[in-house]
Amino acid sequence: MSAVDLHLHSDHSDGVLSPDALVAVLATHAIEFCALTDHDTVAGLDAFAQAAAHAGIATLPGIELSTDWRGKTLHVIALGIDPSAQVLTEAIRDRLTLRTQRAQQMAIKLDRAGLPGTAALQRFSQHGAPTRTHFARALVELGAAATLDTAFKRWLSQGQPGYVKTEWPSLTDTLSAITLCGGTAVLAHPLRYRLSAGQRRTLLADFKAQGGAAIEVVTGGAATHQIETATGLALRAGLEASQGSDCHDPSLPWQRPGRLAKLPSALVPVWHRFGFKGD
Ligand code: AMP
Ligand code: MN
Ligand code: MN
Ligand code: MN
Repeated sequence: MSAVDLHLHSDHSDGVLSPDALVAVLATHAIEFCALTDHDTVAGLDAFAQAAAHAGIATLPGIELSTDWRGKTLHVIALGIDPSAQVLTEAIRDRLTLRTQRAQQMAIKLDRAGLPGTAALQRFSQHGAPTRTHFARALVELGAAATLDTAFKRWLSQGQPGYVKTEWPSLTDTLSAITLCGGTAVLAHPLRYRLSAGQRRTLLADFKAQGGAAIEVVTGGAATHQIETATGLALRAGLEASQGSDCHDPSLPWQRPGRLAKLPSALVPVWHRFGFKGD
């Protein structure tokens, strides 16, 4: 078990808990060092940091930025950012515009497929950072899908009727923005992208050459062989390692914070950069 969790979501993106409620869960799971990393928004960071300080938990300001590399959508976690830096504010504004436009296009595509797309969107139209997860939850609530997983598989994943391709800002621009705002870039869940082994090696080389620091090695629900694979990738690419549950809903057992395996000892933990010397 580890006391570090550097990948967490609140209801400022597609998590179910407010930053305060999330901190309360982290405190019961003995988390000592963590980062809120909502998709393309820093709106929850102040509340999260305040609640965590109150609970005696150390935090880093973070964000999970959607980005494009050679036509594929990737997620880059930025840790230790200056949330008010202009370059970051612009990076966020561009992405939230894309998210809002995409949500409208998704609603139309879902409507055309005979699903309650517009009705789903109405349920979260006031949200500042709409995600596909919001659609998935709304489709379940409206009885159009049995579970979140089926909503994604049947309607929202690439190739399905509700999917809208988004041209997120490039990895190059993303890493440059992260560097300029003082952040440390971590490639999130590196095994979750549809890439060949060769493409993955090229990606990691590009990522490192452009200032990337680490990859996530231990993620929520990762099997032992996946941790071993990611460990090999980090060591071969000369990248540090991070870990995080990617928790959106702590009531789901595989996402529960504080349940992560220890990072293999051959790796350099990225959190050492921030002075946290625990595991
Ligand atoms: P977006 O950034 O709006 O395209 O939404 C991506 C988010 O959808 C991810 O961060 C996950 O939280 C969620 N997601 C993607 N695929 C699935 C799935 N099969 N089941 C549950 N959540 C998923
Ligand atoms: Mn998510
Ligand atoms: Mn992600
Ligand atoms: Mn995430």
